[in-house]
Amino acid sequence: MSVSTDVATTIAALRREVCALHAELTRYGLVVWTAGNVSARVPGHDLLVIKPSGVSYDDLTPDNMVVCDLEGRVVEGDHAPSSDTQAQAYVYRELPAVGGVVHTHSTYATAWAARGEPVPCVLTMCADEFGGDIPVGPFAVIGDDSIGRGIVETLRSSRSPAVLMRNHGVFTIGATARAAVKAAVMCEDVARTVHVSRQLGPPIPLRQGDIDSLFDRYQNDYGQP
Ligand SMILES: [Zn+2]
Repeated sequence: MSVSTDVATTIAALRREVCALHAELTRYGLVVWTAGNVSARVPGHDLLVIKPSGVSYDDLTPDNMVVCDLEGRVVEGDHAPSSDTQAQAYVYRELPAVGGVVHTHSTYATAWAARGEPVPCVLTMCADEFGGDIPVGPFAVIGDDSIGRGIVETLRSSRSPAVLMRNHGVFTIGATARAAVKAAVMCEDVARTVHVSRQLGPPIPLRQGDIDSLFDRYQNDYGQP
């Protein structure tokens, strides 16, 4: 399979965008070494753009991003793609509205994942962004579709764009790669604040009606018109 010229411009822009978004993972302290990645769907094509495997964040360039098909096979690029490519490709295959996927092992969110415990919705920010608790997905190992399946099954039964995969880390989705990065940043911030709160005593739950109206307002009315 080769990439035709009509999609080449789109892919070039996504290479720049996906590369640049990795700087947000380091800016917010969500990753160590090379463990964490961003990908984007190529709209209208069964392709994705993702970080190369094992390349330091300082050495990422638009050129060394890897283009894969939605089976995770390399279509364009000199490097092997992220080891999370199969899982992310599965998400793009199953959830057509998803335009971006992010994976991190950010500390506080992953600490909840290590306990297999959802982050309870006790902050307005959590209601805004996640529409309820941040859910936990199953334990799954790399090698087949089980991580992708776990992500999709968990997120299909939740309004949350983030899932804490048990004993592993965070996967987030968004309409764009940037939205998925934002969800990863917010997930870590909420996980940290709720953790700190619990050291002081039990947090006060939000009422479901308040969660629903906060989520609705933030998702539909918040921001610039
Ligand atoms: Zn991982």
